[in-house]
Amino acid sequence: MSSPDGRGAAWTEQPSVPEGRGPSGLFGDLPGQDAVVAQLQRAAAGAAAILAGQPPEPGAMTHAWLFTGPPGSGRSVAARAFAAALLCDDGGCGECACCRQVLAGTHADLLLIRPEGLSYGVKQTRDLVLRAAGKPTGGRWQVVLFEDADRCTEQAANALLKAIEEPAPQTVWLLCAPSAEDLVPTIRSRCRVVTLVVPASSAVAKVLIERDGIEPAKALAAARAAQGHVGRARRLAVDASAAKRRADVLRVPLAATSLGPALASAASLVRTAEEEAKAVTEELDEPERDSLRRAFGEGSTGKGVAKAMRGMAGAMKDLEDRQKSRATRVKRDTLDQALLELALFYRDVLMVQLGADVELANSEDTLRKVAASSPPEATLRRVQAIMRCRERLTLNVAPLLALEEMTLSLVAG
Ligand SMILES: [Zn+2]
Repeated sequence: MSSPDGRGAAWTEQPSVPEGRGPSGLFGDLPGQDAVVAQLQRAAAGAAAILAGQPPEPGAMTHAWLFTGPPGSGRSVAARAFAAALLCDDGGCGECACCRQVLAGTHADLLLIRPEGLSYGVKQTRDLVLRAAGKPTGGRWQVVLFEDADRCTEQAANALLKAIEEPAPQTVWLLCAPSAEDLVPTIRSRCRVVTLVVPASSAVAKVLIERDGIEPAKALAAARAAQGHVGRARRLAVDASAAKRRADVLRVPLAATSLGPALASAASLVRTAEEEAKAVTEELDEPERDSLRRAFGEGSTGKGVAKAMRGMAGAMKDLEDRQKSRATRVKRDTLDQALLELALFYRDVLMVQLGADVELANSEDTLRKVAASSPPEATLRRVQAIMRCRERLTLNVAPLLALEEMTLSLVAG
């Protein structure tokens, strides 16, 4: 029997991977996560054995999994690859129609849940639990992939617990959360925990070079800047606007010399976050409203149409509320991302000031300039000011106010 945290003796064996290249198929997008990939591949093999009526490797497969790890380490990528490995006839080859449907989130036996607002309610969860109990249409598994499961409200978590305690025979639950502590102990203890680690920059760069064809120096710089966050590293390397946003954030320390520029940079950080949130949400909002209108038969005539149109008003209001909640979340996340980059910059400054031998995420020239202009104590106080600002944002302090307070502290040092 393996230990419940999945790190028992049964999992210590390393996968046999051909020298020089990572695992193939959908698991190939998980750089530096060899132990996790091996664990999931064994589980998928166990699941296939169960379907074939053969005895599976004892303890390899279970019906509830919790994927944890720091942001960007690939929690949902790992869960998605595992879902494909459960649903694909070829163990998650990454090429077949089934794998492509899993990646696109359109597979009939995959219930993909991505809470868009700040929390996920009990009504939605009860509905999900009902759907999850259904039989898989493809005859393999019914997979529920629940991203950000930590956004469940307490009542929602209770509804979820019942489903995980008494699972339908062919249903597999894949929950994702930053850490196991983010879920209530009752759910946590019924899941096998898969812990992803922060991959080394070199492993992330390797993926960018091999899978995305990015030039090595650029790939490594992006990997370092993203601190092991694969998706973010890829965006920094290929998306000019993402690279520009990062450059904007990193101008803040240089501007934090006097009052005027400090206040201006606070305003610019907030504006950038608002623009980003607008770009992301607008792209999603309009198609959603369109499909709702179509679902209610807008534009058609005939019996019952008028009644349906009256029903649409309520549904449209619901949709708009959800869209508003999503916009708030995207804006908050974007701002938080900028603050983390800023904190990381000052961490690098501190490392330079202390002469520590660590991998730096930022350009050394700029770091030396800032490092030479103040003592390490001031750098620490600046990091604290940034962290305080993040906390104030979660307490719903007006973003501009919180940011101004922070940039003024950066000036004070
Ligand atoms: Zn496949």
